[in-house]
Amino acid sequence: MIRLMVPDIESEDIEAVAEVLRGGHLVQGEQVRQFEALLAKTIGVDHVVAVSSGTAALHLALKAMEIGPGDAVAVPAYTWPATANVVALVGADPVFVDIESSSWGMDSYALQRVLASDRRIKAIMPVHAFGRFADIVSINEVAQARGIPIVEDAACALGATLAGRAAGSWGDIGCVSFHPRKVLTTGEGGAVATNDGSVAARLRMLRNHGLDPNASSPDFKIPGYNLRLTEFQATLGIGQLRRLERTLGRRRALAAAYSACFAGTGVEHPRPDDPATHTYQSYVVLLPRRLESRQSVISALRTQGIETTVGTYHVPLTTYFREHYRFRIGDFPVTDDVAPRALTLPLHRDLDEVAIGRVAATLIAHIA
Ligand SMILES: *Cc1c(COP(=O)(O)O)cnc(C)c1O
Repeated sequence: MIRLMVPDIESEDIEAVAEVLRGGHLVQGEQVRQFEALLAKTIGVDHVVAVSSGTAALHLALKAMEIGPGDAVAVPAYTWPATANVVALVGADPVFVDIESSSWGMDSYALQRVLASDRRIKAIMPVHAFGRFADIVSINEVAQARGIPIVEDAACALGATLAGRAAGSWGDIGCVSFHPRKVLTTGEGGAVATNDGSVAARLRMLRNHGLDPNASSPDFKIPGYNLRLTEFQATLGIGQLRRLERTLGRRRALAAAYSACFAGTGVEHPRPDDPATHTYQSYVVLLPRRLESRQSVISALRTQGIETTVGTYHVPLTTYFREHYRFRIGDFPVTDDVAPRALTLPLHRDLDEVAIGRVAATLIAHIA
């Protein structure tokens, strides 16, 4: 079976993790501190706070900004549900914004309309879909014109850069994920990036029971969670982070091989102007509109030994948000078009150009 994703774990990583386990210091130590420092350098920010998942990172970002009941947060309609869930979990309302058909990120014109009509919006959460930069320059301009902060959901985009500036450093707060489907994984894990020292201090308290890390004797200043990353997870992350550029270079080369295969076929494929703006966390294509069933494509590929899956979700049409806010088909036309046609293809370190060619040829033959 050609799997969708394989984690980039080397035997030296396993040995490093074993060393930490043998040492017996499992939380809140030097490994987490070192991982945070390396991430801060990679993302290009002053502070990084490692947490237990990408969802925890997004949740704590909203908590640190004191967003809650009565507030609203703009999120793209096409994303992993966590982006909208955390807004609901802090008691605020997500206001969904349609995506652009080019980047599949939040459409800045649609964002402008939403901001003009809803004065409750206290933050904007753009998503770099599948690791490809959203039009963050236009989104930032729209946000700045109204003085609304940005929480960047860069869950899939660690290592992507636009004009030399890394994903996660474009907003007031940036969040990344280390789930096994991401390019760098710690099993579960995530991190929050910011240049604001007081936000970072709040994040550190929120992730660790409200404990003030700077107090001379233990003092609990706010009600906090326990959303910490462990030492051995941080160790696993450090090894992969040191290899990140090489890993991304390989992913980009394999993505280019896919795109060459799909040129001139009915398969719409990603074509970023600059490969650096994409991590290819997922390589996602759009099937032709005439195809009746994406699920039958997924099943047919599976019988040929190729694992594929859907892209991500039309969140306003998932049960909770649809029933809660009465969304319908037609409310987000670009998401309506993209979501049902998106298909994620295998992309990982164990594949080469020959395997990529086989996957592409099998898909093309099936939809012909
Ligand atoms: C993966 C992902 C998340 C959640 O990250 P977890 O680490 O799985 O909690 C949030 N937003 C987006 C866009 C993601 O892809």
